[in-house]
Amino acid sequence: MTLDHWGEIKERLLKTVGQNNYTTWIEPLVPGDVEDGIVTLKVPTNFFGNYVSQNFSDLILHEINAAGTDATRLNFALNQQPANAADKPAPAARQTTAAVKPANSQLSTAPLDPRFSFDNFVVGKPNELAHAAARRVAEGGPVTFNPLFLYGGVGLGKTHLMHAIARELHERKPEMNVLYLSAEQFMYRFVQALRDRKMMDFKEIFRSVDVLMVDDVQFIAGKDSTQEEFFHTFNALVDQHKQIIISADRAPGEIKDLEDRVKSRLQCGLIVDLHPTDYELRLGILQSKVEVQRKTYPDLEVADGVLEFLAHRITSNVRVLEGALTRLFAFASLVGREIDMGLTQDCLADVLRASERKISVEEIQRKVSDHYNIRLSDMIGPKRLRSYARPRQVAMYLCKQMTSRSLPEIGRRFGGRDHTTVMHGVRRIEELKVSDGQIAEDLELLRRALES
Ligand code: ADP
Ligand code: MG
Repeated sequence: MTLDHWGEIKERLLKTVGQNNYTTWIEPLVPGDVEDGIVTLKVPTNFFGNYVSQNFSDLILHEINAAGTDATRLNFALNQQPANAADKPAPAARQTTAAVKPANSQLSTAPLDPRFSFDNFVVGKPNELAHAAARRVAEGGPVTFNPLFLYGGVGLGKTHLMHAIARELHERKPEMNVLYLSAEQFMYRFVQALRDRKMMDFKEIFRSVDVLMVDDVQFIAGKDSTQEEFFHTFNALVDQHKQIIISADRAPGEIKDLEDRVKSRLQCGLIVDLHPTDYELRLGILQSKVEVQRKTYPDLEVADGVLEFLAHRITSNVRVLEGALTRLFAFASLVGREIDMGLTQDCLADVLRASERKISVEEIQRKVSDHYNIRLSDMIGPKRLRSYARPRQVAMYLCKQMTSRSLPEIGRRFGGRDHTTVMHGVRRIEELKVSDGQIAEDLELLRRALES
């Protein structure tokens, strides 16, 4: 038996998981057989299957059942057909038309994600400069810095800001020719133009835009002829005072295999980076995303402390944070429970484990020596003075408690001391913790400082 209503199921999934997740994880799934309640879904890679299984299987199962197929379990199998062959049937028709559009027809820009607007962008210390610069170019006024170069780690909002700029420009200056595309698409079009002998058209198109936005430009590093073409396009536009906006995962100077002349061109405009998020920004983002989730799940409540907990624990990037929240709401609605700490721990065990903060021996040594106002070298060094020995023991104790290092390893990092010395120090602090209020208080303060 094959799976019925896949199109419908996918549509409902789109609503729950959002466009981004949908395009990445749901769209590529190919439905297979249904046997004894086990539904097979074909996936392009094992990694892909694992990810979907861990993150979306409850939801997918739920929707399959809702669409009338009795299913108890999903089975992910590798899709043996090459991706293109598998894509041939109807659903792919849309994509192909866009891709093979003759180069000289109207510019087709990559689709903009409706969620990526300035309104939905939460501003905090780490991203305020990038946001301000993006706002400025989105006004479409005279070009003051060219290019605007946005960079930052994965999931910090580069693509979001770029889409927001493009959207705002479309609204404010509909007559402007704004082209947004990823560096990968740039290369793809370039290669296609070469192959179809349409280079003249290609050049003309790119040189006729008013605003060119290229996302993830690090992608063209090491791809020599694409870089070359990019360089010429870039220069031609700058000469005409057309705005260029670039994003990358690192600063121009740090992109390896990028030609020097391209680097220096990229460096002549305004370079702003998106810093890793801080606690306040993460909390703000979570609060704003809860409002969005509320539209899908109006009855679900989030218990006090859950958002704070997530903002504290998931520090890697906004995408993970967002994914966690989506999953929480979907899970809570499936099992009909309130979103409280218990549910959060159950539902996000894997995410929480992955983002458990690793505290290093060095960090502990630094914090402790700061706290007691002694030099790091004195803490690690051989001096036995009480004013060094006690902080040293406190640090050893914290290393034992807060890292997974063994006693000999800890000893080595404290100036090559023996593990029995470490053991003695740890025991001493354990005793003092009970008898000496000051030590107990110090330990509590230090632990909190290290965990934040
Ligand atoms: P990048 O392109 O830097 O890898 P994205 O722009 O794709 O990251 O952002 C990842 C996800 O996080 C997106 O869903 C985006 O909407 C969200 N996001 C990132 N930063 C913010 C922010 N400051 N406010 C709201 N959402 C954000
Ligand atoms: Mg991006």
